[in-house]
Amino acid sequence: MFCSNCGSQIDDRAVICPRCGVPVRPLVATEPERKEVNTLAIIGFVFSFVFTIVGLVCSIIGYRNAPRYGGSGKGLALAGIILSSISIVLEILFIAYCLMLLFMYGGMLPSGGGVI
Ligand SMILES: [Zn+2]
Repeated sequence: MFCSNCGSQIDDRAVICPRCGVPVRPLVATEPERKEVNTLAIIGFVFSFVFTIVGLVCSIIGYRNAPRYGGSGKGLALAGIILSSISIVLEILFIAYCLMLLFMYGGMLPSGGGVI
Protein backbone atom coordinates (compact mmCIF):
# COMPACT_ATOMS: atom_id res chain seq x y z
CA MET A 1 0.00 0.00 0.00
CA PHE A 2 0.94 3.65 -0.21
CA CYS A 3 1.39 6.19 2.56
CA SER A 4 -1.48 8.68 2.66
CA ASN A 5 0.92 11.41 3.75
CA CYS A 6 4.02 11.17 1.55
CA GLY A 7 2.77 8.67 -1.03
CA SER A 8 5.70 6.29 -0.76
CA GLN A 9 5.12 2.55 -1.07
CA ILE A 10 5.20 0.85 2.32
CA ASP A 11 4.66 -2.62 3.75
CA ASP A 12 1.00 -3.63 4.11
CA ARG A 13 1.60 -4.60 7.74
CA ALA A 14 3.38 -1.37 8.61
CA VAL A 15 1.87 0.60 11.48
CA ILE A 16 3.75 3.81 10.72
CA CYS A 17 5.35 5.00 7.49
CA PRO A 18 9.11 4.35 7.67
CA ARG A 19 9.76 7.40 5.52
CA CYS A 20 7.74 10.17 7.19
CA GLY A 21 6.67 8.49 10.45
CA VAL A 22 2.96 9.18 9.99
CA PRO A 23 0.74 6.47 11.54
CA VAL A 24 -0.88 4.30 8.88
CA ARG A 25 -3.26 2.08 10.87
CA PRO A 26 -5.53 4.81 12.32
CA LEU A 27 -6.09 6.17 8.81
CA VAL A 28 -7.22 2.72 7.67
CA ALA A 29 -9.46 2.39 10.73
CA THR A 30 -11.19 5.73 10.14
CA GLU A 31 -11.85 4.94 6.49
CA PRO A 32 -15.17 3.09 6.96
CA GLU A 33 -16.45 5.84 9.26
CA ARG A 34 -19.59 7.28 7.79
CA LYS A 35 -19.92 10.98 7.17
CA GLU A 36 -23.06 11.65 9.17
CA VAL A 37 -24.98 14.85 9.07
CA ASN A 38 -25.66 16.65 12.31
CA THR A 39 -29.44 16.49 11.84
CA LEU A 40 -30.30 18.10 15.16
CA ALA A 41 -28.26 21.19 14.28
CA ILE A 42 -30.26 21.59 11.06
CA ILE A 43 -33.59 20.91 12.82
CA GLY A 44 -32.63 23.35 15.56
CA PHE A 45 -31.76 26.04 13.04
CA VAL A 46 -35.03 25.59 11.13
CA PHE A 47 -37.14 25.42 14.29
CA SER A 48 -35.50 28.54 15.72
CA PHE A 49 -37.68 30.48 13.25
CA VAL A 50 -40.92 28.63 13.98
CA PHE A 51 -40.90 26.97 17.41
CA THR A 52 -38.20 28.90 19.21
CA ILE A 53 -38.09 26.74 22.36
CA VAL A 54 -37.81 23.53 20.31
CA GLY A 55 -35.24 25.24 18.10
CA LEU A 56 -33.17 26.30 21.09
CA VAL A 57 -33.20 22.81 22.66
CA CYS A 58 -32.35 21.09 19.36
CA SER A 59 -29.60 23.61 18.65
CA ILE A 60 -28.01 23.11 22.07
CA ILE A 61 -28.07 19.31 21.65
CA GLY A 62 -26.81 19.68 18.07
CA TYR A 63 -24.00 21.92 19.26
CA ARG A 64 -23.00 19.47 21.97
CA ASN A 65 -23.11 16.57 19.47
CA ALA A 66 -21.08 18.47 16.86
CA PRO A 67 -17.70 16.88 17.79
CA ARG A 68 -19.29 13.46 17.22
CA TYR A 69 -19.95 14.47 13.62
CA GLY A 70 -16.45 15.84 13.14
CA GLY A 71 -17.57 19.39 13.88
CA SER A 72 -20.28 19.26 11.24
CA GLY A 73 -23.19 21.56 11.95
CA LYS A 74 -21.44 23.34 14.81
CA GLY A 75 -21.76 26.77 13.19
CA LEU A 76 -25.34 26.03 12.22
CA ALA A 77 -26.20 24.93 15.76
CA LEU A 78 -24.56 28.05 17.18
CA ALA A 79 -26.56 30.21 14.76
CA GLY A 80 -29.69 28.32 15.85
CA ILE A 81 -28.92 28.98 19.53
CA ILE A 82 -28.38 32.70 18.90
CA LEU A 83 -31.43 33.06 16.64
CA SER A 84 -33.80 31.19 18.94
CA SER A 85 -32.46 33.09 21.97
CA ILE A 86 -33.15 36.42 20.24
CA SER A 87 -36.58 35.16 19.16
CA ILE A 88 -37.45 34.08 22.72
CA VAL A 89 -36.39 37.49 24.10
CA LEU A 90 -38.49 39.23 21.43
CA GLU A 91 -41.45 36.98 22.20
CA ILE A 92 -41.19 37.73 25.92
CA LEU A 93 -40.99 41.46 25.17
CA PHE A 94 -43.99 41.19 22.86
CA ILE A 95 -46.03 39.30 25.47
CA ALA A 96 -44.97 41.82 28.14
CA TYR A 97 -45.99 44.65 25.81
CA CYS A 98 -49.38 43.06 25.18
CA LEU A 99 -49.93 42.52 28.90
CA MET A 100 -48.93 46.12 29.58
CA LEU A 101 -51.46 47.36 27.00
CA LEU A 102 -54.07 45.07 28.49
CA PHE A 103 -53.47 46.47 31.99
CA MET A 104 -53.31 50.08 30.78
CA TYR A 105 -56.38 50.06 28.57
CA GLY A 106 -58.17 47.05 30.03
CA GLY A 107 -60.29 49.26 32.31
CA MET A 108 -61.31 51.51 29.44
CA LEU A 109 -62.57 48.73 27.19
CA PRO A 110 -66.35 48.35 27.08
CA SER A 111 -67.18 45.52 29.45
CA GLY A 112 -69.73 42.91 28.55
CA GLY A 113 -69.79 43.95 24.89
CA GLY A 114 -70.47 40.43 23.73
CA VAL A 115 -73.53 40.00 25.95
CA ILE A 116 -76.82 40.56 24.21
ZN1 LIG B 1 4.85 8.50 4.57
